[in-house]
Amino acid sequence: MQSVVESVGEEVTDLKEGDLVIPTYIGECYECENCISEKTNLCLKYPVPLSGLMPDETSRMSVRGQKLYHSFTCSTWSEYMVVDANYVVKLDPTISLPHASFLSCGFSTGFGAVWKDAKVERGSTVAVLGLGAVGLGAIQGARVQGAAKIIGIDINEKKKTKGTAFGMTDFINPNDYDKPIFELIKELTGGLGVDYCFECTGVPPLINEALQATKMVNFLSLLFGGTLKGSIFGGLKSKTDFPIIIDKCKNKEIQLDELLTHEVLVKDIDKAFEKMKQPDCVKVLIKF
Ligand SMILES: [Zn+2]
Repeated sequence: MQSVVESVGEEVTDLKEGDLVIPTYIGECYECENCISEKTNLCLKYPVPLSGLMPDETSRMSVRGQKLYHSFTCSTWSEYMVVDANYVVKLDPTISLPHASFLSCGFSTGFGAVWKDAKVERGSTVAVLGLGAVGLGAIQGARVQGAAKIIGIDINEKKKTKGTAFGMTDFINPNDYDKPIFELIKELTGGLGVDYCFECTGVPPLINEALQATKMVNFLSLLFGGTLKGSIFGGLKSKTDFPIIIDKCKNKEIQLDELLTHEVLVKDIDKAFEKMKQPDCVKVLIKF
C-alpha cells in the first residue's frame, strides 16, 4: 500500500499535503526502552494496535454515523484513511508505485526476518517453507546476505520459477515425495540440515518440520541448542530499517516485478480474493 497525504494535523511537522507515504502497522519513537534496544522492533509508545483503534483508544473514521475501525492502523482498502503520523513512512516519489505497495509487511517481513532477526551470515545454508510474498522476501534476503544454498519449499510447482527469480538455488515440492520435508532438506545438505530455516506459511505442523530441518540432532533440537524465534514485520524498525529496504527497491537492488501477478480495481476488490486462490498468484495490485 502506498498513499498520498491529503492533509495533516496541527502537530505534525515532518509530513505535508501531497507527500507519498507507506502506512505501517508498527511505529518507532526512538526513545522507549524497546526502540533503544537492538533486540526488538516493538515500540512501546506506538505498539502494534490490535484493537482497531488509534493509540488514544478512539476511532477517527465513520460511515453514515457508524464507527469504523482502523485495521492495524492502516485501513488500506479505503480511498481515504486517518492514521497517526507515527505509523507512516515517507517515500521518494520516484519509486515504482506498484513495487512500493508490496513493501509494508509481506516481502519486507521475509526479507527482514533473514537480515534483522536471524542475521544470516555469508556462506550459510537456508531453507524457506512457503513461497508467497513473505517466503520470496526471505529468499531474496538470503541472497543479499550471501547465503550459499537457498532451498525453497512449496507444494505449488509454479513457485519454482518465482523462487528462482529471487535467488533460490534448489526447489522441493513435497508432493513429489513420500518423506517428511525435513528429510528432503537434509538430503540436499549432505545429511546435516540447514543453518537457518524460515517457516513462512503459518501452518502449525510445519514449525516442527522447520526445526528438524536445521543442523541439529534430529530430536530434542531445542534442548540441544536450537533456537526458535518469531518475527513480526521481519524485526524491522519502521523508521530506521524499513527505509533501507525501500531504498533498495528504488535503486533496483531488489527487483519486485515477479511479485506482481494480478491487478483489480478497488470496486472489484472481492475478485482479488478469488485471484489469490489461483496457483500463479503471488500479489494482487488493487488500483484506486
Ligand atoms: Zn518506541
